[in-house]
Amino acid sequence: MNSIPSIVNKQKAYYTAGLTRPLESRLDMLQKLKQAIKTHEADLTAALYQDLHKNEQEAYTTEIGIVLKEISFVMKRLRKWAKPKQVKTPLTHLGSKSFIFPEPYGTVLVIAPWNYPLQLALSPLIGAIAAGNTAVLKPSEYAPAVSVVLSNLISSVFPCDYVAMAEGGPDVSTALLQQPFDYIFFTGSVSVGKIVMEAASKQLIPVTLELGGKSPCIVHKDADIQLAAKRIVFGKFTNAGQTCIAPDYIVVHEDIKTKLTEEMKRVISEFFGPQPEQNPQYGKIVSERHYQRLLDFLNDGVPLIGGQSDPVHHKIAPTILDQVKDDSPVMQEEIFGPILPLFTYGDIDEVIEKIQSRPKPLALYVFTTNKEIERAVLENLSFGGGCVNDTLMHVATPYLPFGGVGESGIGSYHGFDSFNTFTHKKSVVKQTNRFDFAFRYPSSKNGLRMIRKILK
Ligand code: NAD
Repeated sequence: MNSIPSIVNKQKAYYTAGLTRPLESRLDMLQKLKQAIKTHEADLTAALYQDLHKNEQEAYTTEIGIVLKEISFVMKRLRKWAKPKQVKTPLTHLGSKSFIFPEPYGTVLVIAPWNYPLQLALSPLIGAIAAGNTAVLKPSEYAPAVSVVLSNLISSVFPCDYVAMAEGGPDVSTALLQQPFDYIFFTGSVSVGKIVMEAASKQLIPVTLELGGKSPCIVHKDADIQLAAKRIVFGKFTNAGQTCIAPDYIVVHEDIKTKLTEEMKRVISEFFGPQPEQNPQYGKIVSERHYQRLLDFLNDGVPLIGGQSDPVHHKIAPTILDQVKDDSPVMQEEIFGPILPLFTYGDIDEVIEKIQSRPKPLALYVFTTNKEIERAVLENLSFGGGCVNDTLMHVATPYLPFGGVGESGIGSYHGFDSFNTFTHKKSVVKQTNRFDFAFRYPSSKNGLRMIRKILK
């Protein structure tokens, strides 16, 4: 295998040779990528089961299908996005024209996590290719089966001078972060995000950081409880809670706590059976270390629902944890597993204050039929993105930018924003030679008077 510096050097040469720039070849590569995903679908589905026990429907909905759709969406619009755009020119520039030229950054690095190991590797890659870059992709070492299939898939489509996989753990990331990439796109934890940004700053490499955090889910007393229960259970326990935008904790109005938890109990049993931890179609925790970390959280409250676990398959039943203290360990870090602490409130202002006192979350969900409550939450709280009366669904539309704010991330992607993220907007003024206004030059007599008239 080529060394990391040699892969990056070759990719830079490939990029400089202009091979990734023509629109037709970008579209052709995206089409080939789409075809290769279809060809490898059975292997990908098996690998997703092996690494995370994702069942077939979940694997297709949240990984394979969503990526195929993203490629179709981008391909349909790329011609328009990639065109230079003429924009207005102010009076000071009379006679000239102004253009924005979308230009690829060059050679980019994509670092992916393990929880959606296919989607979170390929989705940014689609943007990178659409924008005309070469790319090195570093998947997570915690999803080794997917990593192997992905590596075969990528090498079946791209020469490694165009897109290369660098498999391995933090050591490989660390070596990659020393290379002179033109852009770094990182998805993962806040702590590693800081390491990535620090390394990037040494070479002034621009970054997108797709991070995590504790995403609240507010359920007001006027919510449709049956729908809320279904949608929260879906959002929290898909992939056994190992979803960056899963509800991390619930804040429910005290009047409906019992109704909501009873309904959630019924829905959990309907979705995952009476013993979810024994259900082969219910997600497993990715590693022994992650499993043990989650088991410790079970001591931070009293399970209203769930609490059971299976050490052989690293499974933890969907759990709702009551009587949790704000300063307990489970409320100090992102849970990232099937444990959902539940708090109650009487007045919405209490909830707003509680959430405002924490770092800005990646997602926020509010269940209410009251426009005033909806407005109070949306206007007073800052978060990456979210839903009113649903969970997760904002991630699954290519029309909405997806990303965090504050500690939950920098930048966004999906649909147009993926193309935009991997594109430098080169601004150019094309001046006329037919005439030349003298007033801007220092020798001009009435120059300042003219300029004062225009610049005010
Ligand atoms: P992680 O930060 O541990 O790892 C992410 C990637 O960074 C992996 O490829 C890993 O090999 C690499 N890495 C690990 N240590 C490193 C180091 N010291 N230096 C350089 N690279 C290093 O995250 P994870 O456990 O794979 O994923 C879980 C986290 O990711 C959660 O916090 C979750 O919220 C977040 N996440 C965010 C999004 C999003 O879209 N915002 C999506 C999925 C996951």
